[in-house]
Amino acid sequence: MKTGSSGSFSNYLPEGCLLCYRGAKMVLFVTGVCGRGCYYCPVSKERQRKDAVFANERAVWNDNDVIEEAESMDALGTGITGGEPLLEPERVVHYIRLLKDRFGESHHIHLYTGMAPVKDTLGALKDAGLDEIRFHPPENMWVDINNSPFRDSLITAVKLGIAAGIEIPCITADYSGILSLLEEVGGFLNLNELEFSETNADELKRKGYETADNVSSGVAGSIGIAESLHGKKLHFCSSVFKDAVQLRERLKRIAGRSARDFDEVTDDGTLVYAVIEGDCALNIIKDACVTEDMYSFGNRGIETAWWIAEDLKDELKEEGCCVSVIEKYPVKNGIVVERTPL
Ligand code: SF4
Repeated sequence: MKTGSSGSFSNYLPEGCLLCYRGAKMVLFVTGVCGRGCYYCPVSKERQRKDAVFANERAVWNDNDVIEEAESMDALGTGITGGEPLLEPERVVHYIRLLKDRFGESHHIHLYTGMAPVKDTLGALKDAGLDEIRFHPPENMWVDINNSPFRDSLITAVKLGIAAGIEIPCITADYSGILSLLEEVGGFLNLNELEFSETNADELKRKGYETADNVSSGVAGSIGIAESLHGKKLHFCSSVFKDAVQLRERLKRIAGRSARDFDEVTDDGTLVYAVIEGDCALNIIKDACVTEDMYSFGNRGIETAWWIAEDLKDELKEEGCCVSVIEKYPVKNGIVVERTPL
């Protein structure tokens, strides 16, 4: 079995994935509660089984938190996930309406669910504005999906005009029933590279899975299974893609909106600027005719462009100031990636 690849590939990309590729989808986690208990569940300890809401990494206490997070990354769409979102169907409908009302019809919303909703539920989701639904049937139903309630849910969703598909982890399985059902109804198959996480690592190891390489958290062999389905209408999403490309593109969008005039935005979506600590920093900055838009007052000292600090560093250090260049994530209280003294 082929191992160790990092690429995502597809011969069909659902609309929700297109925006994700651009880092333009906000992830709205609507509850950590889920009755299933899949052995591969990647949901973190902090969120598993907790009825809490997060917009990306931001804890949500009110609707404004959701809107602010979407605005901070200039989101063009939202993926609703959990836990099991449809244990809280009214909450899901509320958030779909909230986002559509605020950002317009073009704000694309897709929903993951491990449930097989009936027509009334799907109708309410459609009325609220849901664009796309991805079903995650339990593993024991995959082989005989046509005799499961997911068949009706898929057909009903498509009839209602919701783009529909199946999204499951890529493991050794018989996908023939799923593929023929999807072909019949015009649905798509999204296969996620099976991944180690802090919550599923013990169970995956117990089942004999190993990591594909030392770089990613993907399971050896997962991509090979997807490749063996070559020619089918499917999209394979690798763990490296999710960690690297998706996150980097999202950070770049956030950085583009949050960067100050003197911040440099890197290709990784981080911000680079200088911090000057010391009593005479402000006088030296003013004497050098640095305009007010090119510095601000931070927690540790004056923050300015790294190239301004570089030009002034000898004078600043002679006067007892500490000068360093900071690279950090562009979010509120973002982690400092690197601090380099000048
Ligand atoms: S359905 Fe999803 S959230 Fe629930 S246990 Fe399975 S993987 Fe985890």
